[in-house]
Amino acid sequence: MVVGEMIYDTDVVVIGGGPGGYTAAIAAADLGQEVVLVESADMLGGVCLTRGCIPSKTLIHVVNIADSVRQSEYMGIVHEKIGFDPKALAAHIQSTVADLADGVARLVKNRDIERVQGHARFIEPHQVYVDGANTIVRFKHAVIATGSRISELPEELGADPDAGVWTSDQALMVPEIPTSLLVIGGGYIGLEIGQAYAGLGSRVTLVEFAPQILAGADKDLVQVVLRQCEKQFDAIHVDSRVTQITRKKDGFSVTIATEGGEITETFSRVLAATGRRPATSDLGLSVLGIDVDDKGLIPVDDQCRTVLPHVFAVGDVTAGPALAHKAVRQARVTADVIAGKKSAYDNVSVPAVLFTRPEIAWTGLTETQAKENRIPVTVGKFPLTALGRAKSAGRTQGFVKILSDPDSERILGMGIVGEHASELIAEGNLAIEMGACLEDLIVSIHPHPTFSEALMEAAEAARNESVHLIKKQT
Ligand code: FAD
Repeated sequence: MVVGEMIYDTDVVVIGGGPGGYTAAIAAADLGQEVVLVESADMLGGVCLTRGCIPSKTLIHVVNIADSVRQSEYMGIVHEKIGFDPKALAAHIQSTVADLADGVARLVKNRDIERVQGHARFIEPHQVYVDGANTIVRFKHAVIATGSRISELPEELGADPDAGVWTSDQALMVPEIPTSLLVIGGGYIGLEIGQAYAGLGSRVTLVEFAPQILAGADKDLVQVVLRQCEKQFDAIHVDSRVTQITRKKDGFSVTIATEGGEITETFSRVLAATGRRPATSDLGLSVLGIDVDDKGLIPVDDQCRTVLPHVFAVGDVTAGPALAHKAVRQARVTADVIAGKKSAYDNVSVPAVLFTRPEIAWTGLTETQAKENRIPVTVGKFPLTALGRAKSAGRTQGFVKILSDPDSERILGMGIVGEHASELIAEGNLAIEMGACLEDLIVSIHPHPTFSEALMEAAEAARNESVHLIKKQT
């Protein structure tokens, strides 16, 4: 023991205070465990609350309000030119984050969870040392919930932090509204932030290495968002690669290798949204004999246990979608298992939601997966143009589709693109988890006039029985 060192003996140490970590800590405490929660940042909430889900959705919400007003003149709304005050917007985002982080801190305190601020590393199979707090925590069980961090751009592309290339962390703080913005990466983070800045008034160009933006989503869902992006963005380069970024007095000179040859353009700002990697490299895992896979992920079983029965891992450090709700579900399972309850992370489907304009959401089997794996499916599709509520809201872009088993009519998957997709997908997810069939969605009364009726209509469409669609001749 070093002089001045603090030692805790506890049932459970949780490393990382994001949605996975704080949920595990609170749920374990509620089940009677003594818990120490170690987080290196001063705020709780992790990437999701402080640099991810919450700031991005706050920014997108504000931009969507302005867009709705701008597009409503034909409905009789009269307005002056709409603009943004970046300082007020940034302050709104920061106060939203701070309020929620305070709320999490209160919940943690309310459970008498000991909070230690610093970087935790395993030094023994039942001990971690917390750098920055000069503290040792001796534990019976550990939960690793250290999440992910931004993958660095290669140095030649200006990875040097002083080069001033934005990551999502900087972009979400809205330090300015650049005249022009190059977004590198056509995944959901690049698209969400790119569309938000286009709505703020920046001229946006997008570069994506793959042949399609939003890889992973079905092409028909992506197509609707792509059409919207083509209206909003100056240019979209797929199958393309940024080869050089040079900082200049008036911005960034960027060379892009496209299918049609090399182009060089100057942008006021560059955002690198090129991916994240699990934060597992500096945890002392070798002390435990835990090997990470080639992506840096920690292998776990269906109870979220690592190869050591007393060490668990949840969230972005484990395989599967890097999404907050997956982390939260795994955290609950882990707390149950530690408390001796029977529990397993055996969910059939994890919904994916992209807060693009319009939103995309899917759950369960996708059409792409069905085709690749030759799984026979019946697809029922209902366009929002045929939905009364969508028409009344002026939001008719998009559709709902349901994939079901051709014999049993069991619902296998759902994809939605359009207004409120992020909310509507929960019904599809419940249907899949409950083993529901088309009949269940058809006979459950969906309130009128709402967007939820599109789910019932898509189920009817699978049987060619939707009263609001032209009947297909058989
Ligand atoms: P994290 O939230 O990453 O938390 C890990 C915590 O551990 C961090 O606070 C970190 O400081 C701490 N830590 C790391 N190492 C140590 C250590 N050695 N000692 C102590 N503390 C440590 N997901 C969604 O579901 N919906 C969305 O809309 C969404 N939008 C996103 C938008 C952006 C821009 C980004 C970047 C991500 C978004 N995500 C979204 C993903 C989501 O943020 C993550 O899936 C989620 O945060 C993972 O939770 P976690 O608990 O595993 O880890």
